[in-house]
Amino acid sequence: MEFDLIELIRQRTAQARDDVRLGIGDDAAVLAVPVGKDLVVAIDTLVEGVHFPRGTAAADIGWKALAVNLSDLAAMGASPAWALLSLTLPQADRAFVEGFIEGFAQLAQPHRLALVGGDTTRGPLTISVAVHGLVPPGKALTRSGARVGDVVLVTGTLGDAAAGLHALQIPLRGDDGHANLRQHLIERLNRPTPRLAAGIALRDQAHACVDVSDGLLADLGHICTASGVGAEIDAALLPRSSALLDLHDDITALQFALSGGDDYELCFCVPVSQVAQVQADLSRLGGGATRIGRIVAGEGVRVRGHDGAWLECATSGWEHFA
Ligand code: ADP
Ligand code: MG
Repeated sequence: MEFDLIELIRQRTAQARDDVRLGIGDDAAVLAVPVGKDLVVAIDTLVEGVHFPRGTAAADIGWKALAVNLSDLAAMGASPAWALLSLTLPQADRAFVEGFIEGFAQLAQPHRLALVGGDTTRGPLTISVAVHGLVPPGKALTRSGARVGDVVLVTGTLGDAAAGLHALQIPLRGDDGHANLRQHLIERLNRPTPRLAAGIALRDQAHACVDVSDGLLADLGHICTASGVGAEIDAALLPRSSALLDLHDDITALQFALSGGDDYELCFCVPVSQVAQVQADLSRLGGGATRIGRIVAGEGVRVRGHDGAWLECATSGWEHFA
């Protein structure tokens, strides 16, 4: 089944990069790795029914399979260069591959990412994308550099993707006049925006950075563990979209913002002296960044509620309010 589909993929993802000596079509790709750069690589897999609901449009799956990987590069401050795509399909479904590769290419093209190879096999619908990016030597952002006193910031808004999944799962009875808000949240779930420009801008500014894929508490928790510090977050400061707040009560919206996954925003730590500059830089790039808390001595993430009291929540996810 593969040849026609691979040729389709090759045509639709054509991307002029003179560092691709040999792309799709041989036993392996050959890439001219620039001298004086660090190579940053990541791979993420999406399994139908686990990472996206059955029935998700093929183009949305193609976009998201690449977006979640580009988000990992963004969190490292890397510029995307090349990708590999492993596609496991129940059958040789040309319409699916056309839709999939259209969504993939829509995101790849503006970032000048070249698809240089992959694998195509039969089996339950599963997509793995491996991405390769570049950073100046020693400049990759990591999870491990946060220092006590740093300010914690986050790009965009939090909780939208979880609310989008909720909107898909809870069937609507009649028209409540909120279809457009629901659609916006579902878009945020299916078409996340990897914050690549922000990640690059943060290379020289942030002490630590992570992308929010599993929820803010879990992912900021990773920074805390890797850096040997704690974090204090203010619930009142969490950036939440008007769509989220219009559709959900405050407690649910807070729960989505703290523990919902799939937002693919960046959460990062910068010294107090840099906050204004970083916020100005990220606003200029679009999207901006919101300060949500501080790095403190200790361990784990604590969340201060609207009334000033600490909320009861576990780093790995939501439990309940105190
Ligand atoms: P081999 O059997 O030598 O591994 P394949 O028949 O699997 O080769 O692949 C042929 C060519 O097509 C290779 O260059 C491979 O990288 C590319 N390719 C296969 N599947 C994909 C895919 N899903 N996306 C991009 N390139 C692919
Ligand atoms: Mg071979």
